Amino acid sequence: MAVKPILPPAMLGILGGGQLGRMFATAAKTMGYRVTVLDPDQSAPAADFADVHIARPYTDPDALAELARTCAAITTEFENVNADSMRWLAAQGVPVSPSGDCVAIAQDRVSEKNFIRNAGLATAPFLAVSNAGDLEGDISAYLPGILKTARLGYDGKGQVRVKTAEEARLALSDLKHQPCVLEKMMPLVAEVSAIVARTSKTEIACFPVAENEHANGILDVSIVPARVDAAIAARARQMAMQLAEKLDYVGVLAVEFFVLEDDELVINEMAPRPHNSGHYTLDATLTSQFEQQVRTMCHLYPGKTDLLRPTVMVNLLGDVWGEHGGEPRWDVLLTAPNVKLHLYGKKEARAGRKMGHFNVLAASADEALEQADAIKDTLR
Ligand code: ADP
Ligand code: MG
Repeated sequence: MAVKPILPPAMLGILGGGQLGRMFATAAKTMGYRVTVLDPDQSAPAADFADVHIARPYTDPDALAELARTCAAITTEFENVNADSMRWLAAQGVPVSPSGDCVAIAQDRVSEKNFIRNAGLATAPFLAVSNAGDLEGDISAYLPGILKTARLGYDGKGQVRVKTAEEARLALSDLKHQPCVLEKMMPLVAEVSAIVARTSKTEIACFPVAENEHANGILDVSIVPARVDAAIAARARQMAMQLAEKLDYVGVLAVEFFVLEDDELVINEMAPRPHNSGHYTLDATLTSQFEQQVRTMCHLYPGKTDLLRPTVMVNLLGDVWGEHGGEPRWDVLLTAPNVKLHLYGKKEARAGRKMGHFNVLAASADEALEQADAIKDTLR
């Protein structure tokens, strides 16, 4: 190990205190580290597990200075964190992972897709749209398509499906003429993801591939192992690691793929952090994706990623809470001995809001899926 590892009880800093920050904090605290969370939200889910919560904006100079002064290493759970804040922290001599440069690439769909292509990996056909003029020529190669804002989109937000050039122009105007990409609509056989933990060329690990099903643009369930050919899963892992390699990435990198006809695999997008589709690792792999985040930021070897049991992860959105805030039927869920509940401690359940998830571990993915569906039906 080239760089000296950072060991407990060192203070670890994280920008962002949502559910990903909360699960990072529990992993770090379990291992004996201390945690400082920077998140302007007083009731940030991660604050429950943090030693220090700095409730200030992500660009606040005093808050960043405090992080630099008090933390042995710094990471982020928040994709849209200011990349310059990350660069500034690194310039103070604190190890920062992922780097501000990697975060910047992942934040912008145009730079992200160009980077993926330049790494020799496939994406869906796309056109960078910086103004209405870019939609004037022949754009039939990208239709029917999806117009996506280049920045700040998540959970299907900031996307409009368009069939014609006229619809694309209207959509751009609906999206307030923000920079966008027009992406060709792909015939999806399945969606899968692979999550990599990397500290250096020789220290890299990739989790088993998850198969992801979305509902209304939001991840609904992840099925592991993915029900695709072993060769496709192997290729997804190899592509994710190749991307991490090209980025010279340090930290946890999630890569989403589209599986197309004829076993074709294209990269949809990446996230420079643990990912919702990796929540199964909390219960079902030797090391969780959040422990990997701790390990990589501390220059420790990534832990083993072996799958212990086929698992289905189900997201719990605010929709399963009663109209008057009534709690779901946790009694049913918690009496199943092979089901693991994770709640994020959010006070208010709103439709579409990620409140928690549960993992079902079973003898096969199909069995886990059947039980997961049955539990879903009883929650309300
Ligand atoms: P987000 O940042 O909101 O996750 P994505 O680009 O991953 O945005 O799109 C969300 C979902 O929309 C994808 O998981 C997929 O189901 C669908 N989708 C996005 N782009 C395409 C495409 N080019 N072809 C078909 N489906 C797509
Ligand atoms: Mg996505």
